[in-house]
Amino acid sequence: MIRLSAITPSGPVQLGNYLGAIRRWAAEGTEEDVYFISDLHAMTTSHNPSRLRSLTREQLAVLIAAGVDPRSVAVQSDLVRELGALTWVLECTCTYGEAARMIQFKEKSAGRSSVRLSLLTYPVLMAADILLQGAHEVPVGDDQRQHVELARVLARRFNGTYGEVFVMPRSVVAPTAARVRDLADPSRKMAKSAKDAAGTVFVLDPPDLVRRKIRRAVTDDLGVVRYAPEEQPGVANLLEILAACTGKDPEGLAGSVQDYAELKEAAADAVIEELRPVREVTQGLLDDPAELDRARAHGAERSRERCTHRLDAALRMSGLG
Ligand code: AMP
Repeated sequence: MIRLSAITPSGPVQLGNYLGAIRRWAAEGTEEDVYFISDLHAMTTSHNPSRLRSLTREQLAVLIAAGVDPRSVAVQSDLVRELGALTWVLECTCTYGEAARMIQFKEKSAGRSSVRLSLLTYPVLMAADILLQGAHEVPVGDDQRQHVELARVLARRFNGTYGEVFVMPRSVVAPTAARVRDLADPSRKMAKSAKDAAGTVFVLDPPDLVRRKIRRAVTDDLGVVRYAPEEQPGVANLLEILAACTGKDPEGLAGSVQDYAELKEAAADAVIEELRPVREVTQGLLDDPAELDRARAHGAERSRERCTHRLDAALRMSGLG
């Protein structure tokens, strides 16, 4: 069974990516799975080439440092030729109406005078990511379920029109290992591309900076440590972060600390300890580019090996070559 997930290099890896996704990929993933850095997806909005390249390397290093099986890790653009070819074939299988109906496209393009065409077509590239690798399961949040549904529609249509080539993928609800909220504004998710980094802990932030950000986290003026996400979202977020790092439950932890200051110190200590090994190994990999290049080349070769026959079949059966 192949499971496929990705992280987009739109910013440095943050604590939410780590606790919510990467740590689970490391603990539960197998060498069959595919965990990739979706650098092509990061180009659907304005981007800086050298920043994109360095964020891609950094994310690759973080995934390997976090213990994700290196045999399952790849960089999307290392398969750009294969993906480009299949995306075209799938675009010729998809209608304009289907692409334009995507809620993410509507939301991200709303009110903008100019959007990249790739913002419209990227769900088809995502379908190519999934179908090329023969993924069975794609763990996603609500915002991506419609894209996996599109991949299913295209797989079914292609298989029905030209012959069986693609495995039918299905979206599965990503288990919520942790949902980390912005420290400065707990009404929104912690995100790597947030405009203001004060509320975002990055995996590579030095320990003193992590502590400062957590000390400045927004709480409330109720002054009681309770796990009440609706009434006390800031406090609940700190409790959830502490819980995710210590393996305890947030309600139990609420009873074990006296006040907000103590909660913040405990959360800072736990996050710093949780991130320390990942940060150190990542730094080591970034300081040894040859080692990282080797891991990257190996991942690319493996992904290519498993998809070449499927791509060749898709091209041949749709009348190409
Ligand atoms: P993205 O940052 O959108 O490329 O997401 C990479 C992975 O990190 C996905 O599985 C997301 O669900 C997960 N993720 C991103 N932000 C958070 C967050 N604040 N809390 C928990 N998981 C997150």
